[in-house]
Amino acid sequence: MAILTLDHICKSFPVADGTATTILQDVSFSLSRGDTAAVIGPSGSGKSTLLNIMGALDTPDRGTVSVNGRDIAMSDENERARIRSSDIGFIFQQHHLLPQCTVLENVLLPVLATAKQVSPAHHERAVTLLGRVGLSGHLNAFPATLSGGERQRTAVVRALINDPAIILADEPTGSLDQASALAVTDLIVALAHEHDRALVVVTHSHEVAGRMGTHYALHAGTLTAI
Ligand code: ADP
Ligand code: MG
Repeated sequence: MAILTLDHICKSFPVADGTATTILQDVSFSLSRGDTAAVIGPSGSGKSTLLNIMGALDTPDRGTVSVNGRDIAMSDENERARIRSSDIGFIFQQHHLLPQCTVLENVLLPVLATAKQVSPAHHERAVTLLGRVGLSGHLNAFPATLSGGERQRTAVVRALINDPAIILADEPTGSLDQASALAVTDLIVALAHEHDRALVVVTHSHEVAGRMGTHYALHAGTLTAI
């Protein structure tokens, strides 16, 4: 059964002269548990717009988005925020770690959005996942002292801490060198498979895209399986 479904999505943005520019035109897409998909397209083609709609960070002008069988286009902002924190893990190009918090604290932040406090089980899960990505020796380190790859691996664990069914990654390795980019990509794919999660990675790298099971190209507002 599909865990994420987009049906006939249209999205446009207003431009300065008062008209609108169409970014997504009749985009349909579906993803099941355990699926990995890459969306590839040049800069400005609408990849982030598409991913933000998949992840309830933005709403389409037309069409429906369903996450775990719930229509998120029909939900209000509070409900969308709840779905985002419980069902979706986001990884961005820039890690957005808080500089004043340690690796462990950064990873536990999303827990506070869904639970009132961090339980020993949450703590143990964070430590286990950080070990899984090779950061056991950096639990109490601050982001400024880490390499780019280590910061991005921290962001990967933060995206997984609430055990989301869907992981959405927007150019997750765009600021890393080639070797670190593929290492982080392989880690995201391995973690997604281990936990039977659905994964969508947006990238302009054909090598990163090659690590995913299915491939789509976004061009002139249209999403095509390639
Ligand atoms: P990509 O991630 O593929 O580089 P984006 O989805 O970020 O592309 O943007 C696609 C197009 O939509 C760009 O031309 C961008 O300027 C425009 N755009 C994105 N978000 C907005 C917005 N909030 N308001 C107006 N235009 C936007
Ligand atoms: Mg983008």
